[in-house]
Amino acid sequence: MILGAHVSTSGGIHNAIKNGTDLHCDAIQVFLKNPNQWQGKLPDDAIVEKFRSAWAETELADVIVHDIHLSNLASPKPDVLKKSSQAFRVQMELAQVLGLRHIVTHLGSHLGEGETFGLKRLTDSFDHLFESTEAPDVIVLLETTAGQGTNLGYCFEHIRDVIGMSKYPDRFGVCFDTCHVFAAGYDMRTEADCAATFNQFDDTIGLTRLKAFHLNDAKSTYQSRVDRHEHIGEGNIGATAFAYILNDPRFADVPLIIETPEMKTMHEVNLSTLRKLYRN
Ligand SMILES: [Zn+2]
Ligand SMILES: [Zn+2]
Repeated sequence: MILGAHVSTSGGIHNAIKNGTDLHCDAIQVFLKNPNQWQGKLPDDAIVEKFRSAWAETELADVIVHDIHLSNLASPKPDVLKKSSQAFRVQMELAQVLGLRHIVTHLGSHLGEGETFGLKRLTDSFDHLFESTEAPDVIVLLETTAGQGTNLGYCFEHIRDVIGMSKYPDRFGVCFDTCHVFAAGYDMRTEADCAATFNQFDDTIGLTRLKAFHLNDAKSTYQSRVDRHEHIGEGNIGATAFAYILNDPRFADVPLIIETPEMKTMHEVNLSTLRKLYRN
């Protein structure tokens, strides 16, 4: 089991390492820049070096990057598309320098142009980024989404199609967010539901693509297409799904990252809840 949390980089990205080890994480997820700003201060060489040496002193198996919230690589609007690509390029290059392999991103929003348009534009954006960015070791993890509004990625077929249309399918993996998948309409409340949902994932995308989980319970309801995270075991998904994932040998080497609310005070509690569900 590789269990961890999204942690703060306040004061510099090197601080994320300590924030993770303080919580006894096996892996962490971070933002490399302010997720609500296009522009943002990037770490200088000294911070990069601090980060690398802090990480080397720990047993942390993985540090995953999450793309900024503003990003829309499927956008029909040229200015937003350009800013999204620039921000993604910066994060890819920084990830390469820092030795990070995985950037998680949502599939973006077609804003009324239709899903076929959005998926094609998204694929073209990634292909262009792969061709024009010096980050050969960085893999993009497409995250399953709840599907609010015109957001793409609420069904496994969208992810399959982007990987299938890309000229660079080897540059993609998938991040499975339990809250999003449940809100999108894949049930996970019983063991049989979990088995069926992962079978569907395997048939559509393939479990070998699954490189990370976001473990979040859902404040939103089944099929609501609304994205609201809840503490583990306190939401509409319930503990059974988390016990299923934690104890499934197919996921033993896949990082499991919590993005539950009130991270300063509640990460410790949610991680402890999950550890108790692990049967060894
Ligand atoms: Zn997530
Ligand atoms: Zn979410």
